[in-house]
Amino acid sequence: MRPAVLNPLFAPVTSLAGVGPKQDKLFRYLLERDDTPRLIDLLLHLPSSIIDRRARPKIRDAVPGTIVTLEVTVDRHRPPPPGRSRAPYVVYASDDTGDVQLAFFRGNRDYLEKLLPVGARRYVSGTAQTFEGTLQIVHPDRVVDEAGFRKLPGIDPVYPLTEGLARGALQRAVTQALDRLPVLPEWIDPAVRRRCGFSSFAEALRGVHAPREPEDISPEAPFWSRLAFDELLAHQLALAIVRAQLRRPAGHRHAGDGALRDRIINALPYALTGSQREAAAAIAADLAQPVRMLRLLQGDVGSGKTVVALLAAAAAAETDKQAALMAPTEILARQHLKTIAPLAEQAGMRVAILTGREKGKERRELLARLAAGDIDLVVGTHALIQDDVVFRTLALAIIDEQHRFGVRERLALTSKGEAVDVLVLSATPIPRTLVMTYFGDMDISELRDKPAGRQPIDTRAVAASRISEVIDAIGRALDAGRQVYWICPLVEESETVASMDAEQRFAALEKRFGDRVGLVHGRMRGTDKDRVMARFAGGDLGVLVATTVVEVGVDVPAASIMVIENAERFGLAQLHQLRGRIGRGHLASTCLLIYRELLSDTAEARLKVIRETTDGFRIAEEDLRLRGEGDILGTRQSGLPGFRIARPALHAQLVAQAREAALQIVRDDPKLTGQHGEALRCLLYLFGRDEALPLIGAG
Ligand code: ADP
Ligand code: MG
Repeated sequence: MRPAVLNPLFAPVTSLAGVGPKQDKLFRYLLERDDTPRLIDLLLHLPSSIIDRRARPKIRDAVPGTIVTLEVTVDRHRPPPPGRSRAPYVVYASDDTGDVQLAFFRGNRDYLEKLLPVGARRYVSGTAQTFEGTLQIVHPDRVVDEAGFRKLPGIDPVYPLTEGLARGALQRAVTQALDRLPVLPEWIDPAVRRRCGFSSFAEALRGVHAPREPEDISPEAPFWSRLAFDELLAHQLALAIVRAQLRRPAGHRHAGDGALRDRIINALPYALTGSQREAAAAIAADLAQPVRMLRLLQGDVGSGKTVVALLAAAAAAETDKQAALMAPTEILARQHLKTIAPLAEQAGMRVAILTGREKGKERRELLARLAAGDIDLVVGTHALIQDDVVFRTLALAIIDEQHRFGVRERLALTSKGEAVDVLVLSATPIPRTLVMTYFGDMDISELRDKPAGRQPIDTRAVAASRISEVIDAIGRALDAGRQVYWICPLVEESETVASMDAEQRFAALEKRFGDRVGLVHGRMRGTDKDRVMARFAGGDLGVLVATTVVEVGVDVPAASIMVIENAERFGLAQLHQLRGRIGRGHLASTCLLIYRELLSDTAEARLKVIRETTDGFRIAEEDLRLRGEGDILGTRQSGLPGFRIARPALHAQLVAQAREAALQIVRDDPKLTGQHGEALRCLLYLFGRDEALPLIGAG
């Protein structure tokens, strides 16, 4: 149960004055929530910059292009002349050094006469400009009287916004939310707090949202650092709790004599790479220990993780136990099955698939076979964690792309057996230093060498103005029998970001190339998607227009060309994942990154990195470096679990400290009891990491 003291912070934002259904929708989008955000979500949305209004020059000394706050007397009003409604409403004002014009386009006369009565003294804040030799402020941000001025903050925070949401509306909401902050118990150890110079959680929030000095919003400064530490501590504590539960002794030995594995290896049409052999051996050794395995298998796209996962499942099957492989999407699950099924069949291992699509009689029969132990390895999606899915003896849970699954889902799968060993597959190469941050304390195997025979990929950046040349080139490639992926940004984003979406591009290409073009996107039904994918894989289609649904796992070795539209909008890791779909067969491959002109520096740097290297680990490091320097695309694009406040590159020191603190807590008070335990529970709820709490029960 959530501590009652938190209730005010979990009230919906719509309980704030001025936040109605329209704002609700905008706030959902801004704060990345499916349902109405709570005040805490709003409060954890931190400013990205400030407006400094402290400059208070005389009119004569105001520097055009800077933000100034002027003390003026209002002289006269000049509404737009009749018939020229597009001219601004101008208010003339002055001080003892000169005149200033305040211009309001489509200004409302009644409103302005109240705001700026002739003869009154006002404080006006905004960006100074010169217009025909006079100082001018167009739409001043603030107009206040003496009393208002005393309350006017010298510094305004500026927040990342979304289209349609006004800065003032967000700021008013935040201010109200701050007023409702309850007195919270302190969860950080006093010694740690002193050493790091942290203020309280509430002080830190106030400090960042109502900065007094520009430094107050710096991620390196104490306020932000305190909040980053809180977020990291919550994350590490949740991991530590889960891990303490998973690692409880009483694991069983889950690896047999190797006979089944040998049969699979003999059935392979290729030789395992050195790192595949090492990873398989490390996993088998873990499985043979009477302690539960918690291992991360990292490998770039195409590095061959699936077959290593299959060997792990085979090791379990040798002891007559079952394994489950859970993938985040239907397409991925089927992809795994396609790699696994022929090998398993030759080796005499029983494999099945269970997704949302298996229904009725088919599903019932499958569940019966699973419960009877007649299936050795079941591959599937979330459908695997439904309550009626029962195993005879589940020994190994393999979780693909785990950062897309929450703790809850992972636990749900592992709870279907006793002391289940866990293998996590990740295609997002994470620098070793960061594994701790994201996955806590896991053993790691890396697939660093690529399978033999892979062709290098020629990657080029092409300006969007040259797209017709690209289309001509695609035409020649199609005539030569090549296959092409054409990637467009997410369909869901098209409503807010002007971009050619996949359907439009599909229509255009279809007009040119006819029925050689297919389309898949996230809004299509699963069966429709699969049908199109199958036609592409079978060579019926020459061009597959797709959103990022092809990002992970999809394997069509014959496709050797990829066009990525609006490449500047993708994160580095995502570009790398996408590109990994080509360069898998025997053909030399080409990747064309189409970008819009006027790239930001970071976008340009990203495209440069992706052109220069295909080494996923290097790309991950560069990604971190670039994002560390403030890429607004943030973590969502990179596929790493989202930290809203902590910046792993910047707060590396805090990551280590939070981890240590979390381990200490779990050692000293694993059930989070007493006052300090209660405070820590608050922390977990505030940062949405409370999923682990049911494991340890009420405090
Ligand atoms: P990922 O790591 O992206 O999941 P997959 O396991 O899907 O990679 O493997 C990609 C492709 O490489 C598959 O077609 C697989 O059969 C093939 N493959 C895997 N290991 C090797 C190897 N050692 N040599 C050649 N091909 C391999
Ligand atoms: Mg894969």
